[in-house]
Amino acid sequence: MPGYRQQTMEWDIKTQLMYGCKIVALDGQGDLIWGHLTARDPEQPDRLFMKPAAMGLEEIAVEDLIQIDLSGQKVGGERQVHNEVFIHTEIMRRRPEVQCVVHTHAPWAVAFGSLEQPLVPVGHEGSLFADGLPVFSQFTDLVVTPERGEAVASALGAHNAILLRNHGLVTCGTSIPEAVMTAVFLEKACRVQMMAMAAGGPKAWTPPEEAQVKKQRIYRPWAFESAFRYLVRRIEEMESGRARS
Ligand SMILES: [Zn+2]
Repeated sequence: MPGYRQQTMEWDIKTQLMYGCKIVALDGQGDLIWGHLTARDPEQPDRLFMKPAAMGLEEIAVEDLIQIDLSGQKVGGERQVHNEVFIHTEIMRRRPEVQCVVHTHAPWAVAFGSLEQPLVPVGHEGSLFADGLPVFSQFTDLVVTPERGEAVASALGAHNAILLRNHGLVTCGTSIPEAVMTAVFLEKACRVQMMAMAAGGPKAWTPPEEAQVKKQRIYRPWAFESAFRYLVRRIEEMESGRARS
């Protein structure tokens, strides 16, 4: 069936990472200059490309990206490193299959993470987190040391998403589309559950066995890529409209 297979991204890793930054911004996860994404360099797996500090997610261009090593030191690029770089380095160190890590201060995820309520699959996207959504609560301060990064990576374990209580979210994946779209789906799952809670609380949600089926059926690699490409088209349309006006 056309489209029902893994697509091959025509964009190089840095271009995909730039689009990833713009997608999480389009999703409302930007917090002024805060929030960051990394992607593993396919040529040197112990080097990561990273969004620099002091810039908004939506304004990133390929030439703004910096390169860091797994100790968090900058090894390439002009701009500044985020001091929470250790979220990325410690997850990448523990999980060699991970190609991309996303950290944002997504507002619905921050609000939901404060409720001490388990996430339930109210809509489809909740099923993506059917294996559990860890909440990191050892501290709410910034992740500014390798030890703190390791604590977050350890709480994440084998999952692809975690809420940092009173702080934000972290997602990862074996591709940039998977990590980025997991952040988008997590923010939506939190938002939809809070909408149901505001209307008296959800009375019904997808049962666990069906959530597993939906997770496999809906959230496949081609779907992450197709949704990522769709959002890139929307961004390009918006940016070309802005350039015309
Ligand atoms: Zn943060």
